[in-house]
Amino acid sequence: MRRERSAKIVATLGPATSTKERITAIVRAGADVLRFNFSHGTHADHAERYAIVREIEKEQGRPIAVLADLQGPKLRIGTFEKERIGLTRGDGFRLDLDPAPGDQRRVCLPHTEILSVLKPGTDLLLDDGRIQLEVLQCGPDFAETRVVTGGGLSNRKGVNVPGVILPINAMTEKDRADLHYALELGADWVALSFVQRPEDMAEGRRLIAGRAAVMAKIEKPAAMDRLREIVELSDGIMVARGDLGVEMPPEAVPGLQKRIIRASRDAGKPVIVATQMLESMVHAPSPTRAEASDVATAVYDGADAVMLSAESASGEYPVEAVAMMDRVIKSVEHDQFYRSYVNAYHAEAERTPADAITLAANHVADTMQAACIVTYTTSGTTALRASRERPEHPILGLITRKVTARKLALAWGVHPVFAKDAEDLDDMVQTARRIAKEEGFAAPGSSIVITAGLPFGTPGATNILRIAWVT
Ligand code: PGA
Ligand code: MN
Repeated sequence: MRRERSAKIVATLGPATSTKERITAIVRAGADVLRFNFSHGTHADHAERYAIVREIEKEQGRPIAVLADLQGPKLRIGTFEKERIGLTRGDGFRLDLDPAPGDQRRVCLPHTEILSVLKPGTDLLLDDGRIQLEVLQCGPDFAETRVVTGGGLSNRKGVNVPGVILPINAMTEKDRADLHYALELGADWVALSFVQRPEDMAEGRRLIAGRAAVMAKIEKPAAMDRLREIVELSDGIMVARGDLGVEMPPEAVPGLQKRIIRASRDAGKPVIVATQMLESMVHAPSPTRAEASDVATAVYDGADAVMLSAESASGEYPVEAVAMMDRVIKSVEHDQFYRSYVNAYHAEAERTPADAITLAANHVADTMQAACIVTYTTSGTTALRASRERPEHPILGLITRKVTARKLALAWGVHPVFAKDAEDLDDMVQTARRIAKEEGFAAPGSSIVITAGLPFGTPGATNILRIAWVT
């Protein structure tokens, strides 16, 4: 099943997409990567969905990536006596460590790590930024605040402290347990939330120990300050606009999105644009014009993938939302100006055999008007370097490791196929021809360009380029 587009779709699974029938429908509609959100659902829910996804993968005959998204240190207030209170501008409101249910004047904030870094004048944002409090006075176990923006406030709402580096790890106890579970299941990607420092990525990598690819969710201003280093330590990046847009003013998010995409493309790491892309489709069968435009912008910028959260996890139109993204992406990629936008930014090649062969392959494919570039890859590196060039020709990745094939389902323009390693040059050409034809990339008479590494099966050995004709 070949996709007629280069940018990919990530869809979050949830109550609206739990049955085999529904998950099959969103995969058929275009979902390439399925996100398991560990902020919601039980381990049993995830296990059940995971088994279904692997069944579907077998039936559809193409690798599907599973992205396990860890909740991270999401900070929350405690509960209220009456469940909901109303705060008005100018009110005093106290946050403290007392677990007793809150009221109109106070509530528990069970995080010494936040209280300890507050200063008079610090802003606290509650409930996705809907409520703003300014700290007037504080100590290690309390903060007296004044309400700047009021509204209703209820149990366990999230708390953000914009612009402050919190002395917390990117992984909580829950995250460690969830990570262990996700790896046991066989997740291909693991996303770390609220990454603040390169050290957070290093810690995640150490725990994951190569068992899955590691993604950094950029949703803290502190992460923006050290973006390059964080990208360097990641296998993929997510522009997590939900929390990023609470921590930073909304008008800053579009520019940050472009910076993150550029840094990721520079490094050749897949980048996802996430959150609220088709938000109104949670309740409506078609998106607003602004939402369609938002998806399109990410594609024009050369993002690897666009993502659905509530739209596919709990919305009323999950299949329609995926189908809409599929149509918007195709429409953009057919636009006569698309190439000039996506090529407006072009990362320099590095002085490596993989980049040298990749550039040569593109050149040859252009000259030959080849049907596709076939890349033999073990670690996935060559396919990612090919993808980094955002070539006009599809990249057919012949991949000898299942985990690599699945991981590459996220990468721009890469059509991953699980294949046995070539035995010799003859076998390499025969297999490439056959799969290019079977997968719908090359008709008889067309040429293909093959890249591979000799000796076969050695990761990082890309060193040959070969033209072949499909018969
Ligand atoms: P979340 O991450 O949905 O897990 O919060 C994405 C975001 O913040 O945009
Ligand atoms: Mn988030």
